[in-house]
Amino acid sequence: MHKGLIVQKFGGSSVANVERIKNVAKRVVSYRKKGYDLVVVVSALGDTTDELIELANKVNTEACEREMDMLLSTGEQISVALLAMAIHKLGCEAISFTGAQVGIITDTSHTRARIIKINADKIKEELKKGRIVIVAGFQGVTLNQDITTLGRGGSDLTAVALAKELKANECEIYTDVEGIYTTDPRVEQKAKKIREITYDEMLEMASLGAQVMQARSIEVAKKFDVAIHVRSSFSNNPGTKIVKEVKRMEDVVVSGITLNKTEAKITVCDVPDRPGVAAKIFKELSSAGVNVDMIVQNVSHTRQTDISFTVNKPQLRKAIKITRKVAKNIKTGEVLADEDIARVSIIGVGMKTHPGVAAKMFEVLARNQVNIEMISTSDISISCIIKKKFAEKAVRSLHKKFGLAK
Ligand code: ASP
Ligand code: MG
Repeated sequence: MHKGLIVQKFGGSSVANVERIKNVAKRVVSYRKKGYDLVVVVSALGDTTDELIELANKVNTEACEREMDMLLSTGEQISVALLAMAIHKLGCEAISFTGAQVGIITDTSHTRARIIKINADKIKEELKKGRIVIVAGFQGVTLNQDITTLGRGGSDLTAVALAKELKANECEIYTDVEGIYTTDPRVEQKAKKIREITYDEMLEMASLGAQVMQARSIEVAKKFDVAIHVRSSFSNNPGTKIVKEVKRMEDVVVSGITLNKTEAKITVCDVPDRPGVAAKIFKELSSAGVNVDMIVQNVSHTRQTDISFTVNKPQLRKAIKITRKVAKNIKTGEVLADEDIARVSIIGVGMKTHPGVAAKMFEVLARNQVNIEMISTSDISISCIIKKKFAEKAVRSLHKKFGLAK
């Protein structure tokens, strides 16, 4: 009986050791026995990718990105082979491939490459032979045969892109939590599992710090309407479905709260208040590949103003170096860095139709004596940068105030 195709993706924690690899194999085989065709995407075992990065740093702190990709892609190559072996042991046919072998063609931006196209013929051939196809996540290859990687967490993207290309019924994302929660359950025990969430909310949550899925992968899922089910590899419970639209009985204004401690703030003091100054700073940063996130500039009363912005901590050193150089050129004051910050965000499509959400958020923070250093908003989210030490308390108070607690 042929039931259609499912793409299953297993994250690093789901294959962290031999026991878990065997468990994944069991699950995959059980789906096979139910009559599904399966394409399985796997991440590197446990913290392998972090360990490889650390190793590279010990050899050369400024390792070139092509060689980084060469190194990091090995992690996933280990997982696919081991999973294939585990499945063989259970008496099923399976075959493992690297990204290059299954024709995942990317551009040349090493360490964050974009998928240009997928030549899925090989996968289709193998599926026809009745085999389970196992694909190394997080990697592709350029037209020049250079191995690339798709950005951290990129196995999600591999899975979603394959699900789209192969017109899979569903893309299951297996992880070490039971799904998407109203907030991080490690911060707030009363966090609830969300049964269904929209692509937009999920995208916002992922970009703002929920670490369950890579943001880029959700963008692609949204663009092509790929049905996603995020669930645990340690249980059979249903997780969270990511869908186009959620029909909710009651008005939900805020669906989730995220906390992100991966950013640092840079402040350029006493910037001359004339046209073109911000352009200079951010142009230099972007051409060096630094991703700038929140930006705040005040109107000045003294012909000088401060500009603050956030960058990801790993890019902080580079960002400061560049900013100081530009600052010197345009004769600003000091350039300061602050790593002790956290971003707390509330997310929900309901915000579009409900006034007063921001005020309510600021009120909660004020009542907790938390000072807001920066604010940014989108259609469906509001973020505040606050001191790191207040972060957890802020999340718990907001979670309660917006009625998300169990
Ligand atoms: N192993 C890669 C990483 O840790 C890709 C992934 O896990 O999706 O970023
Ligand atoms: Mg990983």
